[in-house]
Amino acid sequence: MPTWTLDQIAGLVFGGLMLLAVLSARQVDQSVARAQRRQLGLCEECGGVFDPKSCQIKDCPSKKASQAP
Ligand SMILES: [Zn+2]
Repeated sequence: MPTWTLDQIAGLVFGGLMLLAVLSARQVDQSVARAQRRQLGLCEECGGVFDPKSCQIKDCPSKKASQAP
């Protein structure tokens, strides 16, 4: 068993916290982008930017818009 020094443990904990911070910031970014798209009436996945046919979401607003007469 390797003996861990306090410095090593602190570094490990700090690294884990940094990773968590980066991951949660990314999720916040995504949820904010989705909320904005929802407010604008755009698809949450493609945002109406990409080709609606390539969107994976079934009830994509962009698909409906392109199918409308
Ligand atoms: Zn879409």
